[in-house]
Amino acid sequence: MKDNRKVLMEVKNLKKYFRIDSKRSLKAVDNVSFEIYEGETLGIVGESGCGKTTCGRTCIGVYDKTDGQVLYKGKDVHAMKGSEIKEFTKHVQMIFQDPYSSLDPRLKVHDIIAEGMQIHKLVASKEEEMKVVQDLLKQVGLNPEHASRYVHEFSGGQRQRIGIARALAVNPEFLLCDEPISALDVSVQAQVINLLVKLQKERNLTCMFIAHDLSMVKHISDRVGVMYLGNMVELADSDELYEEPLHPYTKALLSAIPIPDPEVERERQQIRLEGEVPSPVNPPEGCRFCNRCPYATSVCSEKTPAMKEMRDGHFVACHIYDEKK
Ligand code: SF4
Repeated sequence: MKDNRKVLMEVKNLKKYFRIDSKRSLKAVDNVSFEIYEGETLGIVGESGCGKTTCGRTCIGVYDKTDGQVLYKGKDVHAMKGSEIKEFTKHVQMIFQDPYSSLDPRLKVHDIIAEGMQIHKLVASKEEEMKVVQDLLKQVGLNPEHASRYVHEFSGGQRQRIGIARALAVNPEFLLCDEPISALDVSVQAQVINLLVKLQKERNLTCMFIAHDLSMVKHISDRVGVMYLGNMVELADSDELYEEPLHPYTKALLSAIPIPDPEVERERQQIRLEGEVPSPVNPPEGCRFCNRCPYATSVCSEKTPAMKEMRDGHFVACHIYDEKK
C-alpha cells in the first residue's frame, strides 16, 4: 500500500528485446519501472514504435520478458504455472486495437462473448449464459437480440463494443486496452471512450490504456506515462502532466495538439521535433531523445538520465533536472 492506494501491478526494470540475429536485438522495452494502483487508469502514450504495446503485452504475460519483473498482486506474472495462469487470465483481459481481426467471423456474437465464461466455468446453465450475454450486450450499448448475429453485420464501433463485452464476461479486475479506438472512425471514438470510462467506474476496474492520441488519454487516465524508444521518460497525474509537463519530449507531444482557441494557439510556444525516431535496434547512447531534443547538451549523449521524482508522484528522466529539487 502506498499513499493509501493499493498497488495491483508492479513493473520493475522490465526489458523486452526481440532477437533479430545472433548479434542484434530490437530493444522494444528497456528498463521500464512503474506501478498501477487498484481502480486507476494508467495511460501509456508515445509515438508508434516507442514500445508501449510491447510493454503492455509483456506486463500481462502475452510476451515473455527478457529481464526485470512484473508482479500482479505480489505474484511474478512470468513465473506463474498451471492454475495460477488460469486464474490470472480470468482476472486480466485485453481489448484489442483492431475490432475487425480480433473477433472470430465464424462465431455468433453470443459464442464470442460466452467463450471465456465457458472456459472458466462461470455459468451453471445455458439459460444463465444467455442471460449474462444479453445483459453484457445491454451494458455496452448493444441490442440483446444482436447475440444471434455474426460480427460482419456490425460497424467498427459496434464490433469494439462486442470486444469489450467479451472482455467483461469473465468479470476481470484488470483491462489492458491496446489502442482500442485508433482503428475507429473519429465520430465513434468518443463514444467508445465514454463507455470505457463508465464501465471502469461501475466495475472499479484497473486499466492500462495504451494510445498515441494524447488528448484521448487525458480524458480517460488518472495518471499518464510517456514512453520514448523503449524508455519511460515521464510519469505523472494526468492533469499535472498536461498542465506542467517536464520532459522536452512530453512538451513537444503536447505542443502538437491544436488548441481550439485561436488566440491561445497563436501565443503558445511550439516545440517542433526534428528528424525521425531512431531505430530501437541501435538506439542513441545516453538519453535516447538526444538527437531530437532542442535542449540537449554533451552530457545527454554520454549518460542515461535516471527517473527522478521532481514533485509528489511526478517522475521525469532528463538531465535538465539533475541539479534541481
Ligand atoms: Fe533532452 Fe538531454 Fe533531457 Fe534527453 S536528457 S531530454 S537530450 S535535455
